[in-house]
Amino acid sequence: MEKWPIGVFTSIDAGLGVKLEVARELGVPTIHLHAPAASTRTPKHAQEFLAKLRDAGITLTVVFGGFEGESYADIPTVARTVGLVPPETRSARAQEMKEISDFARLLGCGVIALHIGFVPHDTQDPNYIEVVKVTRDICDHAKRNGQNLHLETGQEPAEALLRFIQDVGRDNLFINFDPANLILYGTGNPIESLKKVGRYVRSVHCKDAKWAAHPGKEWGQEVPLGQGDVGMEQYLRTLDSFGYTGPLTIEREIAQEPERQKAEIGHAIRLLTELKKKLGA
Ligand code: MG
Repeated sequence: MEKWPIGVFTSIDAGLGVKLEVARELGVPTIHLHAPAASTRTPKHAQEFLAKLRDAGITLTVVFGGFEGESYADIPTVARTVGLVPPETRSARAQEMKEISDFARLLGCGVIALHIGFVPHDTQDPNYIEVVKVTRDICDHAKRNGQNLHLETGQEPAEALLRFIQDVGRDNLFINFDPANLILYGTGNPIESLKKVGRYVRSVHCKDAKWAAHPGKEWGQEVPLGQGDVGMEQYLRTLDSFGYTGPLTIEREIAQEPERQKAEIGHAIRLLTELKKKLGA
């Protein structure tokens, strides 16, 4: 594959990505996929989806897990509802993540990913220890499917994420770096954070955001690529500095406005294409 192929985040029947048809119209060579609902995760649907991908000449590079009951309404709600951290849903979601891993294998995809949630910062917290355990369990399942597990960034500062990865201690655990999330959640400067965790970054999102007036207490604002505080050129230069050559996967989370979403992703493709040329990729 060429260096830095462009990608977009897609959805079938769950999540905020664009439809595969839109990815095809936009002419991108790669996608990330939000895992579809359980009723769609069948061998038959996998075969149909694979045929569409083949037809469109698109490579699927990451399958993202998401769960019913998750809400991104505000930061405290994320802490209460997202990922493997809430104890009451943890084992059911871990089981579902393994099923998503199996579905990703049917799609020939070697990477699954998720927002793990707000991991407790106190490493002695019993909840922390349980999240470490369940992550090991999912990593081991993914390994049997020949897959890596990528953690989406944003909900932890870089240092906490590094410590968590080291505590899990599995060789197939890596990072999907999303620079906008660090701004949206107020967890750190995206470029400085990327430098800290770069050695674990195996996939990325290209998404932009503006800082909130009170970062960490309220959401920052997601904005079209190039109009926020990430600094796309510096982002690509930093990825380059540790040898990242994988897809640049555009994410624009305004699925409720599909026409605007498509237009802004089109603009993002042009921006990244120009930057790639400028940086000699
Ligand atoms: Mg993302």
